[in-house]
Amino acid sequence: MELPELTILSEQMRKEITGKGISEAEVKNPKCLNMPLKEFRERLLYKTVRSVKNKGKWIFIGVEPDNILLFNPGMGVDILYFKPEDSIPDKYHIKIVFGDRTGFTVRVWWFCYLHIVSEVGLKEHKVVGRLGVNPLDDGFDLEEFQRLVEKGRGNVKSFLMDQKNIAGIGNVYIQDILFNAKVHPLRRISSLSQHEVEALYESMRMVLKESIKLGGLAYEKDFYGRKGGYGVEHFKVAYKEGRPCPECGETIMKIRTGSTGSFVCLKCQPLL
Ligand SMILES: [Zn+2]
Repeated sequence: MELPELTILSEQMRKEITGKGISEAEVKNPKCLNMPLKEFRERLLYKTVRSVKNKGKWIFIGVEPDNILLFNPGMGVDILYFKPEDSIPDKYHIKIVFGDRTGFTVRVWWFCYLHIVSEVGLKEHKVVGRLGVNPLDDGFDLEEFQRLVEKGRGNVKSFLMDQKNIAGIGNVYIQDILFNAKVHPLRRISSLSQHEVEALYESMRMVLKESIKLGGLAYEKDFYGRKGGYGVEHFKVAYKEGRPCPECGETIMKIRTGSTGSFVCLKCQPLL
């Protein structure tokens, strides 16, 4: 899950669970937690959910009096809402039930973090305390992006995927963000022209907003178990190795960029 899916999910969770009191908190995999299970449950049980929001790939659930339940869906997770009459998935790792018998289950495919921190402790959290800006925030304008780029080091792809710079972009959306801007993933950030910086800013916002509009990625589920509408047909070069570039017809290549793969059209995105 990347920013569009997390934005949609946190909005749906906010709508369904804000104001509800927690009556059960079942955790089958206490390794996810940052404290003993007993203490974790004590901090949640019979408390009311005050807010839900996301920042980057993390979900922040505010629980009275001043705790934040932090959840990182990581690489593949189903977070599914249920009503009293609904059947609950057979397999889940975490189950939260509210006073009205609605609730949600969490099923983790890889690994997860489920941490409770106090509001004041948030800044010291080793990951969340250092999260960068949400690229879709109203206040995140081109000037702010330019200031980030000026401080940036290394190549463009790792810069944009570093959650301390911009929070929420992963290896799926980055592909078309770079392609639209006609920038090769391994270009040095310091070599970008003003025009390229603008193109990246526009492309980043366009790709992420378009996916949110369509309900997120087609292979990820939302809070109600519905899959998104942003499928392979919306990708331009992502996962299109061997297919023609939609702009120039050149064959799309898959290349290795550090620890991740990248899909590029080398004619549209030359490595200068
Ligand atoms: Zn091309």
